[in-house]
Amino acid sequence: MASHDNNIQTDGTPKIRVRFAPSPTGKLHVGGARTAIFNWAFARAHEGTFILRIDDTDPTRSTEENTQIILRAMRWLGLDWDEGEGIGGPYGPYRQTDRIEIYRKAAERLVAEGRAYPCFCTAEKLAADREAAQQRRDSFQGYQRTCRDIEPAEAKARIAAGEPYTIRIKVPLDRGDVVINDAVHGRVSFNARELDDFILIRTDGTPTYNFTTVVDDAMMGITHVIRGDDHLSNTPRQVMVYEALGYPTPTFAHISMILGSDGKKLSKRHGATSVEEYRDAGYLSDAFVNYLALLGWAPDGETTIVPRDVLAKSFSLDRVSKNPATFDPKKLDWIQQQYLQAMSNSEFSQQVLVPQLIAAGLESGDTESTYAARPAWFDLLSEQLKPRTTHMPEVVDKARFLYEGADVTMDEKSVAKNLAKEGARSFVSAAYEALSKLDEEAWHAEQIDAALEPLPETLGVNKRKFYGAVRVAECGNQVSPPLGASIELLGREIGLARLNRALSLAL
Ligand code: GLU
Repeated sequence: MASHDNNIQTDGTPKIRVRFAPSPTGKLHVGGARTAIFNWAFARAHEGTFILRIDDTDPTRSTEENTQIILRAMRWLGLDWDEGEGIGGPYGPYRQTDRIEIYRKAAERLVAEGRAYPCFCTAEKLAADREAAQQRRDSFQGYQRTCRDIEPAEAKARIAAGEPYTIRIKVPLDRGDVVINDAVHGRVSFNARELDDFILIRTDGTPTYNFTTVVDDAMMGITHVIRGDDHLSNTPRQVMVYEALGYPTPTFAHISMILGSDGKKLSKRHGATSVEEYRDAGYLSDAFVNYLALLGWAPDGETTIVPRDVLAKSFSLDRVSKNPATFDPKKLDWIQQQYLQAMSNSEFSQQVLVPQLIAAGLESGDTESTYAARPAWFDLLSEQLKPRTTHMPEVVDKARFLYEGADVTMDEKSVAKNLAKEGARSFVSAAYEALSKLDEEAWHAEQIDAALEPLPETLGVNKRKFYGAVRVAECGNQVSPPLGASIELLGREIGLARLNRALSLAL
């Protein structure tokens, strides 16, 4: 156990401790990632502790594979945690399935203290009670507290005799309304009449979410519970558990839902929802985190580029909006472009271009050695592709023509429109003539452009036609990066060979 003093800041207030507690019942989704980012940023901005706990008590839906997917996604997002899964810490274990004994003991203590009790009602009895309450139009339709006053000795005997039972919390009858001061929603009041004696431990001995969460949050010293507002309705019950256990309640901050462009809750229908899919589609982790951080939080009214280090300094709950946030893929793309543009050519080469070319099999080896072999070549290519890239894998198709030797694949439509045209042969031949005069030394975009520049006028044709033919001859299509640089990147031998070959295709 950490000494208690470690958790007190110099001004006497407790050191901030927050947790992200995913249930491994699926992949890490955009909403969960946003919750994780808020917790992480809040901890970093307040020099607090960020804990990763795995809430895997739902055995039918939790899998180890999902846990690993979530951990990978957290690492990809760059959300480092200080305590928890994989690294341990003073309040472990950090997987709920490893804490079952802790929940059992906590429930036993509550029973011994008269703050919880065993309930022997069968499912049929509960259903019948509920129906009767409906018939009576009773405003209270929850559990009727049937077993609340069974004598402890009798309860013990029934348990010993093997009768199935749950453990329910004993909500004080005079508790009154539960009011929380949510850091996002402000004051939220819950009607005391709706609080029934809910279940902490099920008949099969497994603990319920409202119980495990509070036992863990309380024992782990969580000061702020930042989570999706789908959990707001669980909060009054959780407050009851804190009170029964004798722990102070933390500050709650319930963050809004994320909606799709049609105003409905974000789901598969709107496209990719898991972090993995965004990674695979070629988003930069930094850009993605920046975008998600802005879903419901803003440093001010207008700033949209909030790099990770700025986020880690400036995040605060008072700038979190309680209104639902809309997921806007166009804005995500725009932010991604800003991050790509801000890279130097060499950064783009090493972080985007070369890894993508290797992944596509156009280059081999590792990024470092591949880049080191031809840094100037990659940087020149990066300079061309950077302004034309949003999703990183796009560089592959744009660079492919550079890897095809003299026999570049010819796009049929481009050929029909540009090469298979009256006069095209003379354009290509003039280009060949002019470029063959440049030696290896002079084979640079500027010189190449300068050599081609006077030709349309000399030939008496319009520039578009001339360059269209030369471009298709060199690149195989009409949408390649700028021509001079493309020809430089091809190199003298291939550059000339392709013109030569195109002569046979041109009219
Ligand atoms: N495991 C819960 C979930 O994934 C955590 C909820 C909470 O933060 O309390 O929804």
